Amino acid sequence: MTRVLVVEDDPQLVRALVINLQARKYGVDAAPDGATALRLAAARQPDAVLLDLGLPDMDGIDIIKALRGWTRVPVVVLSARQGSDEKVAALDAGADDYVTKPFNMNELLARLRAAVRRTEDIPLVPETTLVETGDFSIDLFAKKVVRGGRDVRLTPTEWHLLEILVTNPGRLITQKQLLQEVWGVTQANKTNYLRVYMAQLRRKLEADPAHPRYLITEPGMGYRFEG
Ligand code: CA
Repeated sequence: MTRVLVVEDDPQLVRALVINLQARKYGVDAAPDGATALRLAAARQPDAVLLDLGLPDMDGIDIIKALRGWTRVPVVVLSARQGSDEKVAALDAGADDYVTKPFNMNELLARLRAAVRRTEDIPLVPETTLVETGDFSIDLFAKKVVRGGRDVRLTPTEWHLLEILVTNPGRLITQKQLLQEVWGVTQANKTNYLRVYMAQLRRKLEADPAHPRYLITEPGMGYRFEG
């Protein structure tokens, strides 16, 4: 059974989420505040977390950071905050996806399924496990990136994107393929996700992120890794 931890302080929304999740055979735990959320995450080891950012005792961003200290559990953020700064902060902290309230329940459940599926994916078996460039090296087997002698910390979503690109060197991977593979969505209007994550990857890996050498944009089409 897939266990979901719902972190939300609005009792009506919690009730709606619990009913919908249980109807689809998920096991559900609910936490009305951050302290309970962190305790339940450790005690129950959920397979996914649905996280409201506005909680009575803690900022949801701090909860994501605390979780990422010890777990890669997929985190889907639920937020009434519309700003893209907030979205970027949540994604930077290690959230896997972001849904703005009010949301469509079916869409939320689809995002949740995609987030869970990503962590269950059978690992790719690339021809080589070590990808070396002039600036960084990637160990696909150990899931490690080293740049300038230091480990580069990537979120699970950043890693997934990078892995797809570097296992297809020189090949154009379309926006649609990446959205489908990484987020389980095909809507072209989600291409802003790709822009946010590619910008993060370039900041972490490229010597000059504004003029990338390795993570190349093909305008209007997709992305390519040049080794
Ligand atoms: Ca709230």
